[in-house]
Amino acid sequence: MAEPLVAYSWQMSQWQHLQQLIESGRLPHALLLVGPDSIGKLRFAKALAGYLLCESPGQLAACGHCRSCHFQIDASNPDYREICPDEGKRQIGIDQVRSLLNFSGQHAHRDNGKKIVVIHPAEAMNVFTANALLKTLEEPNAGTVLILVSHSSSQLLPTIRSRCVQLRFGVPDAALAESWLRDYVGDGELSKTLLREVGGRPLAARQTFDDDGLAVRQSFDSALTELFEGQKTALQVAEELLDKDILQVLDWWCRRLMDLSRHQLASHALAAESWQRFKVLPPALVMQTLQRGLELRSGFSRGVALNKRLVLETLFLEWVALCQRNAAS
Ligand SMILES: [Zn+2]
Repeated sequence: MAEPLVAYSWQMSQWQHLQQLIESGRLPHALLLVGPDSIGKLRFAKALAGYLLCESPGQLAACGHCRSCHFQIDASNPDYREICPDEGKRQIGIDQVRSLLNFSGQHAHRDNGKKIVVIHPAEAMNVFTANALLKTLEEPNAGTVLILVSHSSSQLLPTIRSRCVQLRFGVPDAALAESWLRDYVGDGELSKTLLREVGGRPLAARQTFDDDGLAVRQSFDSALTELFEGQKTALQVAEELLDKDILQVLDWWCRRLMDLSRHQLASHALAAESWQRFKVLPPALVMQTLQRGLELRSGFSRGVALNKRLVLETLFLEWVALCQRNAAS
């Protein structure tokens, strides 16, 4: 029998809030967990699902040994459904959502027990699937609780948002995130560096550690240094980065620009020493470049067909031109 899932240490206020609702019988039938990605919202949703299905839950988690807890929170559990895009797909299929009507119409495995549906990310539903889900939301079966997880709730249909009770999750408290990551990577300074690289999102920091992402980012910084020291042209740097994951490149680019911007506006320390050379650039132009980078990142992550080579070439050519104009003025 698997250990019951517990919410992360930085999610305790949301957990306690829900616990109060459960104890007073006011748990809504549809919840929307919103916040940045890679901070553990899905884990929270699953911990909550296990908790709601458990016959005798404790304060923080399901009991781990009742008949319900015998099942894990996965496809083997008759009272639990998880809906996310199929492998290799970006969108949730309409048949996946339609199957919910059937599921919520059946009796729970346990007498008077609940059934839980987790949908993630909710923005992977298009207008048709979202409308199919609305049918389920409009005719809630007494025992079914829907938990929607969203990294970008502004992309959801207003009709979906308005039928759910929202629960917000922010980037966690730095000390809690650091202590959690330190247990994993075994080093306090490294944990701080990793978290700084990903804007404080613990699961993204752990992923960066697993993927050796710090070294990758440093290699991008080195390529940029070579460009500005005349060892490489913008087109050569673009060529070099072409076989890298474009989202990783744009993550690095936006993170560095954000860092530069915060350095210019609020005297934050720069994460990458080599970016010191850019601190004389006009802050408004840095912000504009950042905005453009974020738009590109969002485009690529939504699967918009963009020419990667052209995007990278333009990005570096424009940055060089901006720096040259600034130096000449
Ligand atoms: Zn249990």
